Amino acid sequence: MFHSLPIDSFVCQTTHCPDFQQSGRQNVKFRKFYGPQKRRLLRCRTCDTEFSETRGTPYWGSKLAPAQIDNIIDHLTHGTCFSSTAALTDCHRTTAAQFTRLAGVHLQRFHDLHSFVGEKVEQAWDFTVVNPRSKFVIKGQVGARTADLTGVLLSEARDRLADPQNLVLFTDGYLPYQSLFPELFGSAWQPPRQGKRGRFPRRTYRISRRTAHVRIIKEYSGKRGLTWP
Ligand SMILES: [Zn+2]
Repeated sequence: MFHSLPIDSFVCQTTHCPDFQQSGRQNVKFRKFYGPQKRRLLRCRTCDTEFSETRGTPYWGSKLAPAQIDNIIDHLTHGTCFSSTAALTDCHRTTAAQFTRLAGVHLQRFHDLHSFVGEKVEQAWDFTVVNPRSKFVIKGQVGARTADLTGVLLSEARDRLADPQNLVLFTDGYLPYQSLFPELFGSAWQPPRQGKRGRFPRRTYRISRRTAHVRIIKEYSGKRGLTWP
């Protein structure tokens, strides 16, 4: 069943790699088949590590056959309790419980990092604005990562906030945030022109003292040395 997945749908599973769980980087290559089930061993060209195609999934490291794991997860996702799932799929109750956790972790990771639309051809970002205190999702968007869609997400999030003048926004190093933040959360200000003739200088945006934008940029050097400037 694993062979149906194309190589470029896999992502690096090595946590210190700059391409860790990043899709669309063309860094994962086929290395060889291994083991009795002829699973594929993959190699990441960025960090030069090898990993199984099942790494990071509930199939990894399990002695059960993939079909039996599918069967267990199928029962659990349809609301069958642990003991009934165990009886129907010929496994132990604790095994059924363990797969609930493994599948849950795998899906959460998949959801957090990336999602695909259509035929897995077009990569899409899952943008979310979350209130860190309440964990409420303020706004979400899915689509290609462009300045336009980022602008839509931020302006919709701003409209949903009771006080958009009193916030700290944390983002990653995606550049459009830099210009969008003052435009959407600041107030427009027209600088006066020099003298009485000529053009007015370009409009700028002022940010209130209670509002701030923090960009968190992770830097890697080789396999280690992660810094958060
Ligand atoms: Zn890697």
